[in-house]
Amino acid sequence: MKEPLLLDGKEVSKSIKGQLKGTIDSLSKEGIVPKLVTILVGDNPSSHTYVQMKANACVRIGMDSKRIFLPTETTTEELLQTIKQLNEDETVHGILLQHPVPSHIDERQAFDMIALEKDVDGVTSHGFGSTAFQLNAYPCCTPAAIMEMIDYYNLEIEGKHAVVIGRSPILGKPVSMMLLNRNATVTISHSRTENLDQIVKQADIVVAAVGKPKFVKGEWLKEGALVLDAGYNKGNIGDCDYDTCYNQAGAITPVPGGIGPVTIAMLLRNTVLAAQQKAVQRTVNHF
Ligand code: NAP
Repeated sequence: MKEPLLLDGKEVSKSIKGQLKGTIDSLSKEGIVPKLVTILVGDNPSSHTYVQMKANACVRIGMDSKRIFLPTETTTEELLQTIKQLNEDETVHGILLQHPVPSHIDERQAFDMIALEKDVDGVTSHGFGSTAFQLNAYPCCTPAAIMEMIDYYNLEIEGKHAVVIGRSPILGKPVSMMLLNRNATVTISHSRTENLDQIVKQADIVVAAVGKPKFVKGEWLKEGALVLDAGYNKGNIGDCDYDTCYNQAGAITPVPGGIGPVTIAMLLRNTVLAAQQKAVQRTVNHF
């Protein structure tokens, strides 16, 4: 049995961050430090870890970061006010509202309050629409990381059959649009899909975005399939059953060390691009 190509997210992330460093340095010469503000509502321990990881990544690369913690009882209106203030703050380049928010909050309304030019996590309806139509917007980070991973290793997309498992607004749907825009033939599956194993068997590319540990089994895969596991479950376990999938795949992402680190690199990149865009505007306004 031929060993699959192991898609190393840490290597891809390192390469992206290396490219960003030069831009951050030149922005700092103009007195601009890219700044990401994360908002966390409530006390979900996983969410705390995620925002901490994002803040650490900013600091390590020479960016500025601020974390805003709001209590669980925060109302939609209060959250919208916080976002509005950040939209108006000239020193803030990117805003990230950590998903999920407590269930009494209208998360969609809160996401859509984020100004498009600061939507570095790609969560607004406007951003999603723009991504789908290939217009200018910062792409949603995990879907962008999946595409980046494919491109880094020069793997083919055009004409391939991609099966995306999951249709969430932050993952399954946007990655399906991105694959479609790159001329893959895309099947989107979800919790009501019947005979999923037989559908996955036809896939050249499988994106697992289910949120269920070890959900995708090796025997579901076509031999040589490209397997991209976006899942991140308790205990650092992906949505694919890694050991059985490894034996069948042509290329595979591990968990941890796959899509996760690249997702953070995408967030940094979007924030740096937002700061760069701001610098360009400042120059234009000056003249
Ligand atoms: P989500 O919002 O819970 O969506 C899960 C999707 O999976 C839904 O569309 C659901 O279908 C579908 N699904 C559930 N059971 C299924 C089944 N039996 N067969 C087929 N589809 C099924 O999750 P998410 O936010 O997209 O996240 C998915 C995974 O990615 C999670 O493991 C999460 O931790 C991970 N994630 C990782 C990163 C990263 O940085 N690496 C970032 C974000 C998320 P319905 O629509 O019908 O309910």
